[in-house]
Amino acid sequence: MTPTPSPAAVPHSPAAAVPLLDVTRTNAAIRDEVLQLWAQIYDQGGFIGGPHVKNLEAELARVCESRHAIACASGSDALVLALMATGIEPGDEVICPAFTFFATASAVWRLGATPVFADIDPQTFNMDPAHVRSLINNHTKAILPVHLFGLSCDMAAFQEICATEDLWLIEDCAQSIGARYQGQAVGSIGDVGCFSFYPSKNLGGFGDGGFMTTNDDQVAAQLRIFANHGMTETYRHEYVGLNSRLDSLQAAALWVKCRQLDELAEQRRANVVLYQKLFADCQLDSVFGLPTEPSDCFHVWNQYTIRIPDGRRDEIKAALAERKIGASVYYPIPLSRQRCFADLGYPDGSLPHTEQACREVLSLPVFPGLTHSEQDRVVASLHDAWHSQSRLRAAG
Ligand SMILES: *Cc1c(COP(=O)(O)O)cnc(C)c1O
Repeated sequence: MTPTPSPAAVPHSPAAAVPLLDVTRTNAAIRDEVLQLWAQIYDQGGFIGGPHVKNLEAELARVCESRHAIACASGSDALVLALMATGIEPGDEVICPAFTFFATASAVWRLGATPVFADIDPQTFNMDPAHVRSLINNHTKAILPVHLFGLSCDMAAFQEICATEDLWLIEDCAQSIGARYQGQAVGSIGDVGCFSFYPSKNLGGFGDGGFMTTNDDQVAAQLRIFANHGMTETYRHEYVGLNSRLDSLQAAALWVKCRQLDELAEQRRANVVLYQKLFADCQLDSVFGLPTEPSDCFHVWNQYTIRIPDGRRDEIKAALAERKIGASVYYPIPLSRQRCFADLGYPDGSLPHTEQACREVLSLPVFPGLTHSEQDRVVASLHDAWHSQSRLRAAG
């Protein structure tokens, strides 16, 4: 049994916690509409594929300004399927960042190909085209840039490299639905775009899900075949594919949620403008490295990620936790340094900008529905943490 805390242990006026993410606030607005659709599906049967998935795919193609959108079971599967559909095989090399979620590189590994890690541009956290260029050899088959935290990569550079070297360009758009590069929607620029409906993403579902975009009819056909057991006609298998489908319940809810997408992105952008002001007001804008939006990009801020200098990231994070402020480190360990990739041979120091980012970054709450006073508390807590610990250090 959990002992009941004594009243004395309860603070008098506890400041409410500020969560890193609260999906219930924006999901509340569509609750009745979604539950109504779910009740219909419940009563009618038909839980896989069907009209709800078709409708969602049409809407996603429109949102992502692509000829085709193909639903699948997760963002991780979308990456595997994109690599399968472009014919990536054992022995091939695919260049990707090490400062990203695990799935970017594990998809390459799954197919028996080799992930080759490029360093990042410290300003944008995105893969550095100059370093990518230096890694290309005869085995290189594809470049897999990640539009991290909601910001597009320098796609003109990657398009140019892929055109001259005859490589596939596959975009990991899991964190960046709605983001733009020189006016173009991410996922419509390369050969395939891979997206996720994981609940923490900008179009978050009610469970797992994902999709792929492409403007190439042949690649689209391959993606559909590989997502359905490599089956070309009923019970005829030309390839060994995956079972990777989106169910009707997810599709129906996501279709409703698509309508909110622009508004949700605007709310994230407004939250970032407010952070910028609050940090400037207390002169923390010159202490922390604050993220910025390049002039040719439309940032959708899946994460608002700052840098904490002087090796103090972990103490500041702990101080925020004490004040019940949600903050998290995306990502603490470069993929090049993960145990499962030890055989790839990236010693400490091989990707200096990636490694420094892993030591310095901290992501703060930026989700739609976050209130002004919650943002005030986040910045005030950071201010207190930074200065009180500075005092302690000076005293010690
Ligand atoms: C979330 C994410 C994925 C994987 O998506 P899932 O739907 O969780 O499988 C892939 N790449 C990046 C960059 C992600 O953030």
